[in-house]
This record gives sequence, C-alpha cells and structure tokens, in this order.
Amino acid sequence: MSSLSARAVVVSFAALCVVLPLTWGRAALVAHAEDGPTTTRTSPMSQLVAAWNALRAGDYELDARDRALSSSDSVRCSQADLVVYRGTHIRYQAAVQVHRAFVPRLARFEERLVELATATYGRAPRRLLHRGAYVCRTVRDHSSRLSEHALGNAFDFSGLEFSPLPRRVAVPAGLPRASRRAFRVDVRNNWVARRQSDQIHSRFLHALADELALGHEIFRGIVGPPTHRHSDHLHLDMGPWAFAWYAYEGAQSSAGAAVVD
Ligand SMILES: [Zn+2]
Repeated sequence: MSSLSARAVVVSFAALCVVLPLTWGRAALVAHAEDGPTTTRTSPMSQLVAAWNALRAGDYELDARDRALSSSDSVRCSQADLVVYRGTHIRYQAAVQVHRAFVPRLARFEERLVELATATYGRAPRRLLHRGAYVCRTVRDHSSRLSEHALGNAFDFSGLEFSPLPRRVAVPAGLPRASRRAFRVDVRNNWVARRQSDQIHSRFLHALADELALGHEIFRGIVGPPTHRHSDHLHLDMGPWAFAWYAYEGAQSSAGAAVVD
C-alpha cells in the first residue's frame, strides 16, 4: 500500500468521527432547546461522551459541552473561563485566549517541542509561531456545529523560531550548516521540503504530527496539510472525538493505520 492510499483510509475513519457526533449532537439539541445556543450548554449525548472519555483518560472539563447548533441558532460564545496565555516553556509570538482546561495541554506540547527540537537542532526554540486559538465561530462548512476554537479548546500551530546554535553546544549529527544559524521552521514552507537542506525541517514537522496523532495523549484532534485551509498550520484540539487528518509523501502505512482512534 502506498503512503497516500494509507492516508486515504485515515481520512475515511476521520470523516466518520466527525459525521457521527454531528448527527447525534443535533438529536441531543432537541431535548435542550430551551437552554439557547451558548457554549456552556450540555446534553445527554455530550455527557455520555464525557463519561466515556473520563473512563479512558480521566475527566476533561469541556467534554460535556454541547457543540450542536440548530439552523436557527446564532453563534454565541461564553468567555467566562478563557484565560490569556503566552507560553510556559516557549514564548509565543503573541498571547492567545484559551479555555483554562486547555492550558496544561499547551504546556505539555511545548515541553515536547523543546525535547524534539533539542534532539534535532541542538537547542530549544526561541519563539513559537501560531495562527491563534479562541475564535467564536462554527466548524467551517458545518454551520450546525461549534468549532473547538469557539470553546478556546483548539490551537493553530504554525512553526518555531530558533536563535543561533550556542558555541558551547555540540553540533547534532546531520545538522545542516544553515540550521546552525538563526532560522525558522514553519508548516507553510517546510511541510514539503523544496531543497535538500530543508529536509531536516520537513522530517521534524512530520515526526511532530505523527507523535501527536499516535495515542492522542496531548491533543485528540489534529489537522494539517494538505487538508483544505490547513496548508500553513497544524490544527490541534481537545474535542471529544479523536482523529488525525494530514498526509505527507513517504508516510509509513503502519503510522497511517494507527493515527485514528
Ligand atoms: Zn484550527
């Protein structure tokens, strides 16, 4: 099986993971229509999903929130539990608003970025690049469902900036000369390597995506290139449903089979 056909299987399962909650979520909305379309409402189906996730991996505060909207609902978002976050282990290019429950996820993500970057490039990143977190909107092309961004439960990672390799640090094996100077690795320019010296960056991004997708221990949802509207970032969320939706040339079929929960 080629790498791309393996990823097509992933997309099929991922589509199921998205479509089923959309359907069940609308059914749940009927019983709770009096609550209004806010981001704090819950429903029997949401509670069931939350209980299932809690059994598997412990409670997560946002699991019981209802994401479904009827066609007559306008989008309204509660900002009561949002906090301003600038990064714990890596400084962000700009502060983001996220739900308080999502902050420890981002902190763990930064820890892994530091570890992976140090192993690959010999130093931790100087700055984390992103395309935002909280946005009050529905899922694009699915007006019946709130985006995880509307809950402050999603983050769009776009890349990292590095300072020059300190003189006292040993040069990691295989590190191109250009990566010893200050540089940037980003999804838009490096997901597909255009030059030989960029291959280290695409391998870094692919390994990062695969690690996040396998096991879903930090985030549950991941969307990246070549998915529509995701050519320049990795969407990472803690929605109730685990899925992985991205592809790259040369991906191992075993990884493709394992990235969907
Ligand atoms: Zn996103």
